[in-house]
Amino acid sequence: MKRNILLNPGPATTTDTVKQAQVVPDICPREKEFGLVMAEVEQLLLKIVHADPNDYAAVLFCGSGTLNMDVCINSLLPKDKKILVVNNGSYSSRAVDICKAYSLNYIDLNLPIEKSVDVDAVKKILDENSDVAVVYATHHETGTGVLNPIRNIGKVAHEHNSIFIVDTTSTLAMRPINVYDENIDFCMASAQKGIQAMAGLSFIIGRKNIIEDSSHYPMRSYYCNLFAQYDYFRKNGQMQFTPPVQTIYSARQALKEYFIEGELNKWARHQRVINAIHSGLKDLGFKETIPSEYQSDLVVAVKYPDDINWDFEKVHDYCYNEGFTIYPGKMQGKNTFRLCSLGAIDEDDIKKFFEVLRSALIATKVAIPIKYNK
Ligand SMILES: *Cc1c(COP(=O)(O)O)cnc(C)c1O
Repeated sequence: MKRNILLNPGPATTTDTVKQAQVVPDICPREKEFGLVMAEVEQLLLKIVHADPNDYAAVLFCGSGTLNMDVCINSLLPKDKKILVVNNGSYSSRAVDICKAYSLNYIDLNLPIEKSVDVDAVKKILDENSDVAVVYATHHETGTGVLNPIRNIGKVAHEHNSIFIVDTTSTLAMRPINVYDENIDFCMASAQKGIQAMAGLSFIIGRKNIIEDSSHYPMRSYYCNLFAQYDYFRKNGQMQFTPPVQTIYSARQALKEYFIEGELNKWARHQRVINAIHSGLKDLGFKETIPSEYQSDLVVAVKYPDDINWDFEKVHDYCYNEGFTIYPGKMQGKNTFRLCSLGAIDEDDIKKFFEVLRSALIATKVAIPIKYNK
């Protein structure tokens, strides 16, 4: 099969074995045999974040990563309590939108998007608002590539008797995460990012005692309720509603491949990829938007050249035809594009990509080295 190199922030490049794992005999997902496949996926997901199955459960859902955000936010807020959203980018802004959609009592702690969260700012809000029961943060703001200090945010949350929910969609199974060390009560991801499987399966990993307590919280959604999905699986070994059957088989294969590669080897590979991206950009004269000390090593936001011939769409289409996908930026008021180190790729793929990018720049008459006015 043709191998495309996806440098967008997910869905990511997958191995052929993960693609092929979707081709299985037809099966009714209410069969015990399929329940065992889901149970195996759950156990492997817990293992990725070093969570003890006595303390944590992995709850599977059919949907994209935003569904996890929706489920956690609508399900885990007790009546008459507030949720604090630590907001330094477009994904945490999406969490604020979810709070608005459910008319929740929320605080939007708006912080600068070009740098990591200042934990003192979080502490100050919590000192002033004793009715906050949930602190929500984004580990890695995928729009900018900024990484946040979740361990310290979680610590402050716990010191103020709040639970801590982290959107780890674009770090889980890439950067090593230990839920105990990082003070995580709930984290989440979708199968098409770190685990290098197919879009359509998402999962939340969270503390069982809190999920059980949440059975008494207001039920704000029928389809997207965390306790309901958790409880149904515990009792029946099935999802409440139709799961993405073939996607789950491929996720199981991807998880097996994750453990064959190993946590630290995989992280080393993503770092090799990002280093190849940094050096390729530098060779061409491109500038990055975020100072390196704030970066996740998973996404680089690149400044558009100040060159009248620069046309992102044309460069994108040239690269796309050669099998490489580059992605627009997500920073309000700033013209950027993104290159990411997700997926089953390695530094040789990046070297080939930069040859193609150079040709694309030459073909579209963009000056090399890249020009910037300041
Ligand atoms: C990808 C991503 C999501 C989910 O986005 P979907 O479009 O629903 O897949 C959520 N949070 C972060 C940080 C992400 O990178």
